[in-house]
Amino acid sequence: MLQALPGIWVARLNPGVSCFNLCCHNLNLFLYPYDVIRLKHHLELSSDAFLERHVDVVLRDGCFFPEVLLSMSELPEKPCPFLSPSGCSVYLHRPEACRMFPIEQGLVYEAKTRRNRKIHYFKPPGFCQGSKGRKQWTPSAWIKDQGAEDYNRMTQRWSELMRMFRSDPWGGEGPDGKRGKMAFMAAYNMDAFQEFVFKSSFLKRYRIASALLDKARTDDVELLKIGLAWIEFFVWRKSSPLLRPRKS
Ligand code: SF4
Repeated sequence: MLQALPGIWVARLNPGVSCFNLCCHNLNLFLYPYDVIRLKHHLELSSDAFLERHVDVVLRDGCFFPEVLLSMSELPEKPCPFLSPSGCSVYLHRPEACRMFPIEQGLVYEAKTRRNRKIHYFKPPGFCQGSKGRKQWTPSAWIKDQGAEDYNRMTQRWSELMRMFRSDPWGGEGPDGKRGKMAFMAAYNMDAFQEFVFKSSFLKRYRIASALLDKARTDDVELLKIGLAWIEFFVWRKSSPLLRPRKS
């Protein structure tokens, strides 16, 4: 059984550690919407090109929204496509799961307070030398050290929506229907969502917080905040200070 930990011993990854790069093979590496934005900008790919080249879309049991896994290379050991002999070639833009490793984190929903509580686990694979570090880290110090704070903030918001997708909101249409595809676009395809927001009747139908809207014209992270607020309204009719329907 995994234990939530207040403090752990973790070694920073570096070429001198004997397990260097071993953890970057044959992974079920889930990419969250913010991960996709960071990677596709770094790789200078369109959203469509990134999704086509680098991800597998999966629907897990008990979840009614498709999730995105980074496709591993076809080579026998199935390395991550971004792994190079000298390490991670996208290091400054690596996904949240890579930043957090060997710590895992999750959210526990507390019905009493109606809030999510973040918990951390430490269960590294057998080859991992992470637990042999000399310095003790708290999860929050590790998050800061690994530059995962922005990732954590965006993923926490995303996790709240994913928790709501544990019940089927689609009726007979299913997550592959038209509404499900629109919601997927608003989370994972910022190029298409940009067109939808700024080149359709979207702004005639929804009032967006003006400071957010201005930034979202040129910033995909701000656009994603609109996307997540829109999914919440579009699927569950929940408005927020960021997005409200205009009165007709
Ligand atoms: S993105 Fe980088 S750190 Fe993450 S699995 Fe791939 S090579 Fe390893």
